[in-house]
Amino acid sequence: MAVYVGVDLGATNIRAVVADSSAAILGSAMAETPRGPTGIAVTEAILDAIRAACGQAGVTPGTVTACGIGSIGPLDLAAGAVENPANLPDRIDRIPLTGPISKLLATEDVYLHNDTIAGVIGERFHSERNPDDMVYLTISSGIGAGVCVDGTVIAGWDGNAGEVGHMTLDPHGFMTCGCGHDGHWEAYCSGNNIPRYAERLHAEDPIETDLAFDDPAFSAASIFDLAGEDAFADHVIDQLGHWNAMGVANIIHAYAPLVINVGGAVALNNPNLVLDPIRDRLDEMVMTNIPEVNLTELGDDVVVKGAVASALTGGTGDRSKL
Ligand SMILES: [Zn+2]
Repeated sequence: MAVYVGVDLGATNIRAVVADSSAAILGSAMAETPRGPTGIAVTEAILDAIRAACGQAGVTPGTVTACGIGSIGPLDLAAGAVENPANLPDRIDRIPLTGPISKLLATEDVYLHNDTIAGVIGERFHSERNPDDMVYLTISSGIGAGVCVDGTVIAGWDGNAGEVGHMTLDPHGFMTCGCGHDGHWEAYCSGNNIPRYAERLHAEDPIETDLAFDDPAFSAASIFDLAGEDAFADHVIDQLGHWNAMGVANIIHAYAPLVINVGGAVALNNPNLVLDPIRDRLDEMVMTNIPEVNLTELGDDVVVKGAVASALTGGTGDRSKL
């Protein structure tokens, strides 16, 4: 029996799964992503997770046919590694991936993608509706997209195509992004930045609100939880809808997708409050065809399922390549 490995390397957790040729999961393992001492510790933790998933599936790693990886970025595709990951401590400079995994699994067929590209590969493979032109958009601790145009998943020479969260939406640069530049989509609408943005909006216009900005537990969820009950929370959610719709409109004009499937914790936890304001605004922002905007049906598994789909289809998600 041919078996395949999928790996999801996130800033918080590592997941590895072993699947059969129909993508059914035979074994899985999860571990916290090490915060150091170096990137090698992260590589070792991934290899351990793969070994554990193989053990659960009852297969030896050396018999695996192919492996797909969906990873935090930025990637150095030529080297098969993550280079200076933005969301891990600075001491983690480089995380070798394809070389050590290829060695463990005794296969050259190891496909590395950033996590949103793995996402669109998963959507292409698993979704009922999977046209040749589709986008997977994540609104999570960061914002990014995986794009498929004319049946080709767009990676870019370095694997970093689709970093749409760093498109400039606000030329006035009211907010500064985690990447250091001003006015990026992610600086307003990612899970990490929504609380900062709300606080800045409130400093400009201090209307009464039940939100407790200086509570250490204050988070994006605190704002969404007060929807319909707190005028300021509603104002913030409306502003998020404005920026999200603008970002999605830019994606539509750039790539002409038929379907945009949205995932990531912010969207998954608040599907109507996040997606309806986008759908409602596209008519007045888009001059071309307006695609379907759906919540992903793959939930939190979209990256690891995309990684498996990549392993099964030579890195494409195209079911005709099975
Ligand atoms: Zn940025």
